[in-house]
Amino acid sequence: MDTADVIIVGGGIVGSATAYFLSIEPAFAGRRIVLIERDPGYRDASTGRSAGGLRQQFSTPENIAMSLFTLGMFRRLRTIFGAEADVAFREQGYLILATPEGQPLIAANVTLQQAMGADVALMAPTDLARAFPWLATDGVAAAGFGQAGEGWFDPTSLAALFRTAATAAGTTIVNDRVTGIDAHGRVEGVRLAGGGRIACRSLVNAAGPWAGELAALAGLRLPVEPRKRFVYVFDCRQAPEALLRAPLTVDPSGVWFRPEGRVFLCGKSPAESEEPPVGDLDAIDHAFFEQQVWPQLAARVPAFESIKVVNAWAGYYDTNTLDQNAVIGPHPEVPNFYFANGFSGHGAQQAAAAGRAIAELITHGAFQSIDLTRLSYARIVNNQPLAERNVI
Ligand SMILES: Cc1cc2nc3c(=O)[nH]c(=O)nc-3n(C[C@H](O)[C@H](O)[C@H](O)COP(=O)(O)OP(=O)(O)OC[C@H]3O[C@@H](n4cnc5c(N)ncnc54)[C@H](O)[C@@H]3O)c2cc1C
Repeated sequence: MDTADVIIVGGGIVGSATAYFLSIEPAFAGRRIVLIERDPGYRDASTGRSAGGLRQQFSTPENIAMSLFTLGMFRRLRTIFGAEADVAFREQGYLILATPEGQPLIAANVTLQQAMGADVALMAPTDLARAFPWLATDGVAAAGFGQAGEGWFDPTSLAALFRTAATAAGTTIVNDRVTGIDAHGRVEGVRLAGGGRIACRSLVNAAGPWAGELAALAGLRLPVEPRKRFVYVFDCRQAPEALLRAPLTVDPSGVWFRPEGRVFLCGKSPAESEEPPVGDLDAIDHAFFEQQVWPQLAARVPAFESIKVVNAWAGYYDTNTLDQNAVIGPHPEVPNFYFANGFSGHGAQQAAAAGRAIAELITHGAFQSIDLTRLSYARIVNNQPLAERNVI
């Protein structure tokens, strides 16, 4: 039987980041890291279907700190990964609009974000009208705007940089499906669809939207499930040039849009009672766009009265149904089973910090850089949500 010091299940951006940070950890040198991914084409993985947004406009300090860490990596990307490294980071900001009822919350969030070093400004409607003349400010009392450090990037490229660097440092990639986990107070190893078995000292669950299923193989409960989200691509012939340089804009209704070259991406998370069925990612709900997305777009940006959907795709959010925040750390009763799950639509930008955190826990037994104790599994056991107020 094969053996590994650490098995990471899932080779998306979170598993790849974890492999990378373990592989460069000096105290971990010479140990065997095995990353197991069932689909080398990553067809359904969230990473390749993500909108790739990076923002510091969160309400939870841990989430702000994790995104700031990713931003710091982007600032030094070529020093870290070499002269050719590129994740297509477009630093055009996030613009989060708030109604009069939402104003106190956004003001408090911006104060926290600024205190943590994020370059986010609180804007009044008059500032908005001046800075973004394409925007209708009706019903808007304030907005948070990331003046620098926010925007969007290509998560697939970042995942590939992590994986390439991890394999160069000795990580082994196995393309197979984990079908069983042998655990009796501790994880002993995994069973593979191909018939193999790999024993391990530690296991990291990086199975994205399927993390709940993977945890169940070890008899563990994790409230993470796939939730289908649609991204619509539309053309707007009348878009002024300034609109093509717009930030990722989030309407109080939850509808968001951003430019992507000469076209635009948009979407909205549905109400809990209207979650679409999961299963077929090729099935796109165009009625959802017509009824729930486009009317809000057109009301917020008059130029969007006349648009044409030219493409669309669906992907799974890795949703933590307890509180839409990540679960990072070991299981209290199976201490060598580590979770890096439940990012709920912000995992592309948090993968780096989560991967580093897991590497620190496995190597040193404690967080060394960002204290993510409040994101640990304990809150699942105690049913104590750590609410993030800025989920998009
Ligand atoms: C439409 C959409 C928009 C998004 N927008 C943003 C955004 O703007 N900003 C942001 O930060 N995040 C965003 N996200 C979320 C982000 O993409 C995810 O949180 C992140 O990609 C999760 O990465 P992951 O590596 O955990 O999961 P994945 O990329 O899904 O990888 C998990 C991998 O595990 C593998 N796997 C599962 N089970 C097994 C098994 N039993 N054996 C072997 N392999 C297994 C799967 O094949 C998969 O490749 C978005 C997601 C979607 C769908």
